[in-house]
Amino acid sequence: MKEKTEGKDMINDCFEKFMTASTFKGIQVAFKELCQAVDLKPTEYKTFYVNLKTRVNTWKAKSLWAKLDKRANRKEYKKPKPCYDTNVLIIGGGPCGLRTAIEAALLGCRVVVVEKRESFSRNNVLHLWPFLINDLKNLGAKKFFGRFCAGAIDHISIRQLQVILVKVSLLLGIQIHSNVTYLGLEEPPADQTIESKCFFSVFQIMHSNIIFNLAYNRRTAR
Ligand SMILES: Cc1cc2nc3c(=O)[nH]c(=O)nc-3n(C[C@H](O)[C@H](O)[C@H](O)COP(=O)(O)OP(=O)(O)OC[C@H]3O[C@@H](n4cnc5c(N)ncnc54)[C@H](O)[C@@H]3O)c2cc1C
Repeated sequence: MKEKTEGKDMINDCFEKFMTASTFKGIQVAFKELCQAVDLKPTEYKTFYVNLKTRVNTWKAKSLWAKLDKRANRKEYKKPKPCYDTNVLIIGGGPCGLRTAIEAALLGCRVVVVEKRESFSRNNVLHLWPFLINDLKNLGAKKFFGRFCAGAIDHISIRQLQVILVKVSLLLGIQIHSNVTYLGLEEPPADQTIESKCFFSVFQIMHSNIIFNLAYNRRTAR
């Protein structure tokens, strides 16, 4: 009984650490610890979020799950998921890449994000239109960052937006790799019809067997 309570406490502590982490590195470390505490592998993307929900049930977690469930249960993501077994590669973990990754995950895709930076440091302020504020609130933005668009505030730093979106992404089973630069496509030999393979500056062995069906690359990304 005591061991069970200690296990629960550890899971709750890990979840709290994840929710409050404020750097890219800190989020990744806290998420890894959370996965270990709940004994779940983020690579099992079809079941990750559902299983995580059953294992983390503090009031704070439950209110976040309620938000995400409401969003995930919209009719456009109808069950069975329309895009199961579609592999999506997102090049760049900026706000647009991460928001695209979340949408693809909600549709049931396996999503991998590669981001060349190791940290989020851009404090440039983005104006958020009302529909964007609404969209982000529906993804639980205020649960991660209580001051999100409080009162008449309608802007946010790029860094803070990335922090929110990375957390949502990880909870939905999206795999995010920092310090990985996309370099290009490896074309198949002329006599073969298999899809092209992507190659990266630091090639992740774990993804060497995935053929991506779709790749998102914001052309202006630097
Ligand atoms: C100096 C500067 C100031 C700005 N100020 C403002 C502002 O005040 N207000 C405003 O609304 N907008 C501003 N912008 C525009 C701002 O960058 C965008 O609004 C916002 O960041 C766009 O998000 P994004 O996801 O499309 O692209 P980005 O935020 O640029 O994200 C692209 C991501 O892709 C990564 N990446 C790039 N190439 C690769 C690769 N080969 N492999 C892996 N990862 C890669 C990058 O590291 C980056 O994280 C500014 C831009 C600059 C350069």
